[in-house]
Formats: sequence, structure tokens, C-alpha cells
Amino acid sequence: MNTLQKCKSCGSANIDSFGPEMAIHHAGRANLSKPHVWLFPELLVCFDCGVALLTVPEDKLRQLAESRELVLSELTTAEEKERCALEDTCRR
Ligand SMILES: [Zn+2]
Repeated sequence: MNTLQKCKSCGSANIDSFGPEMAIHHAGRANLSKPHVWLFPELLVCFDCGVALLTVPEDKLRQLAESRELVLSELTTAEEKERCALEDTCRR
């Protein structure tokens, strides 16, 4: 049990740390096939309110930001394609 910290949500000391393995990707089925960012953080779990807290290391934040840029650029492309199809402005 982690006796030095308290839950940041409810203030309970009834928390403990765990060592999860996480593969993070953007939500949505289309993003399942994109590269995942792997994390092995310390996860603090509150047994009173259920809140779980972890900190993403800086190098992993950069990877997530790069992944986010890729997803956003693809969304723009998909939106543009949809608009072109609806307006019939892209056919030659
Ligand atoms: Zn709590």
C-alpha cells in the first residue's frame, strides 16, 4: 500500500500502486491499426472512489503528440474527400 500519497479526487489514503502495461491509441475502430504507444507507468488506484492516476513520461508524450498529428491530418483529408463528394467539386 502506498502510504505517502492520497487520492487526488477524494483525499482517501486507501490507494495502492500497480504496474500496468498499456498500449495507447486514438479512439475509434479506424485507429486500431495505427501504431500504438506503449507505456509501463506506475498506476495509482483509489479503492474508495475508483479513480486511477498515471503520469505519461515526456518521451511518450511526444510519441502521442505525433500520433495525434497523424490522426488529425487524416481526419482533414477524410473531411475534404467527403465534402468533395457531396459538392461534386473534385471530379474532373
Ligand atoms: Zn479516491
